[in-house]
Amino acid sequence: MSDPFAPSGTVRLRPGREASLGRRHPWLYRGALADPVPAGPAPVLVAAADGRRLGTALPGSSGGSLALRMVAWGGERWDAALLRARLERAAELRRRLTIDSDAVRLVHAEGDSLPGLVIDRYADVAVVETYEAAWRPLLDEVSAFLRDACGCAAVLEREGAGREPARVLSGAAPVGPVVIREGRLAFPVDVVGGQKTGFFLDQRDNRHRVGELAAGCTVLNLFSYSGGFAVAALAGGARRAVNVDASRPALELARAAYRLNGLTVAEDDFVRGDAFAVAREMVAAGARFDLVVVDPPAFVRRQGERRRGLDGYRDVNLQALRLLAPGGLLLTCSCSALVDEEGLRGALLAAALDAGREVLLLEWRGAAPDHPVALACPETRHLKALLCRVP
Ligand code: SAH
Repeated sequence: MSDPFAPSGTVRLRPGREASLGRRHPWLYRGALADPVPAGPAPVLVAAADGRRLGTALPGSSGGSLALRMVAWGGERWDAALLRARLERAAELRRRLTIDSDAVRLVHAEGDSLPGLVIDRYADVAVVETYEAAWRPLLDEVSAFLRDACGCAAVLEREGAGREPARVLSGAAPVGPVVIREGRLAFPVDVVGGQKTGFFLDQRDNRHRVGELAAGCTVLNLFSYSGGFAVAALAGGARRAVNVDASRPALELARAAYRLNGLTVAEDDFVRGDAFAVAREMVAAGARFDLVVVDPPAFVRRQGERRRGLDGYRDVNLQALRLLAPGGLLLTCSCSALVDEEGLRGALLAAALDAGREVLLLEWRGAAPDHPVALACPETRHLKALLCRVP
């Protein structure tokens, strides 16, 4: 087999377009390139207009404007040893964080200097998510590390944000959900067919916070997926939690999560449907909750979706505010990388004005620390979560 680290050629930048690399930003857009990127998944060398070598990059495969992601800088050699060193550094950070769970994000792409590569570990199963085809030829190296250095019994690959079923890279695909532990809670993770890599580890600390705040509350969990926030709330003493999700398998996982934690499964607490419509019906029926969690999928995936996406955040938060009892708490989230905290705050303010409710921001939260963000690349800060009090 040919060396998957060998560059297929050199791509020169247009004059002056190396400035962002000088700030250690790892992305190059098509407009910055003077040469076409050679076809195929092989890495390329990147040079300034004057020929000075700037590093090595992996080609983007989305066909969008993001053309190259830097994996090595200056004369640094992109090879198996460098990949291995990055993986080791990522694993060492997770040990250092002493996370009270057997499920962690082992590799968070740009945040671990492995652009376009995500690895979540669920007990002894690792799930690799590749955002670029360029990672494909490197997965033998990656899965050998996960097996030999991390002791993972199985390594699976999910491509395209979990829209395709998993492919086995090493070991055997588990039969049925993998059970993980998070603090004193247990969750079933569908690593083969679930969303993304199977579970939303980024919300770990926010789940925990909801558990701390939920005693005695009635809880509405909009966009519940496998019920993580509801389980945390009920374990924290909530009186009742209602999960709403459009996906039948997601709600099936949520029921399984309840059973795993010894919680009673009442059918009325698992509502399948469009969260916008279900919330409107609840408003019409005069329902009220003490704590509402709003954690939708990314509404803004491209710049062109921004206006509609922000409208979506405004609308769903408007329904959430109408459903909040006086003095209630709202945890509202956005996982759109293209919507920053100000964008989410603006959408929430518009909703608050429409609802005629005052909103107090208590905590500006984000993803758990096993999701590091490179200071040079703030665009990869995907999750924002605002914890609010609604008098
Ligand atoms: N809060 C969850 C993660 C949510 S992911 C957790 O902590 O684990 C987003 C979820 O929204 C997915 O489960 C998806 O099935 C669901 N979803 C997407 N569009 C929806 C809609 N219009 N109405 C209800 N659920 C929707």
